[in-house]
Amino acid sequence: MLTQAARRAHQIDASTPSKSSGATRRKPAARAAILAAAGMALTAASSALAAPANKPNQIRYEYVSPKNPAHQAIHDQMKQGRTLEHLQELLSPLRLPYPLTFKVAGCDGVANAWYYDEVITVCYELLADFLKNAPKQDLPLGVSRADTIIGPALDTFLHETGHAVFRMLQIPVLGREEDAADQFSAYIMLRLGKDEARGMILGAAYQYRLRVPEPQVAIPIEKFSDEHSLPAQRAFSMLCIAYGADKKLFADIVEKGFLPRTRADGCEIEYEDLTFAMTKLISPHIDKRLAKKFHEVWTRTVSARRARFNRP
Ligand SMILES: [Zn+2]
Repeated sequence: MLTQAARRAHQIDASTPSKSSGATRRKPAARAAILAAAGMALTAASSALAAPANKPNQIRYEYVSPKNPAHQAIHDQMKQGRTLEHLQELLSPLRLPYPLTFKVAGCDGVANAWYYDEVITVCYELLADFLKNAPKQDLPLGVSRADTIIGPALDTFLHETGHAVFRMLQIPVLGREEDAADQFSAYIMLRLGKDEARGMILGAAYQYRLRVPEPQVAIPIEKFSDEHSLPAQRAFSMLCIAYGADKKLFADIVEKGFLPRTRADGCEIEYEDLTFAMTKLISPHIDKRLAKKFHEVWTRTVSARRARFNRP
């Protein structure tokens, strides 16, 4: 989610360039020399701008004590499991101009998450909803109960990180930013090990589909005006990106009808488009050495966390 206030807060300040007076006339040769010098100066200035203080290891975190005692267990479990520390590791390779803080906090009953002022806040209320809506047992398709909790939580943090990255790095976004943030998240989840990627994607999709469990749904017309796609659309798009990325790993979601064939046929192209955008726009801002190191650490971490949640 991104509020209008947040959008305004992160608008780029497009200052008006100063106009030259043009009062003095110069000879062509002199003018060419001046232009060349100006060009060199501009080149130097732009390379200074292109190589600013963007650096990795900019992720900070904070476990805010819950206001509602019912959320204490979530706080304690996350802290003991070092959840935010692991997210910090996963996203440390992002080269950012200034620190980005990940925060879990009580939100007075609001189950949501947002990015504002270089802080990503995920409400305990939202995490409590994931826990409440998780199935009692593992699901078909090899989706574990743990996947339906960790998957959407990870997706939420990554979606908000998408907003943060677009703003902090001034990444141009075509189309709706909410959809772009969803795609950013899906793309990163698919960089995990195959087993983990599958669990996180299907677990996150499960929590989206849960809100529209009926094959036919009646939705108030104003829901279509939301800046986010509808939950079921977000789930289908996530599954499509996953299927487009790896048709073998996600073959059963099409075979069993979770992703309609009509959409599935174009998913490889959708994934290629996403890969092109991520490679072109985000990849230059990734510290490749750190990314390799933490990718491996993160895969092990997700496996350990899933095992813990799966215990009876
Ligand atoms: Zn959003």
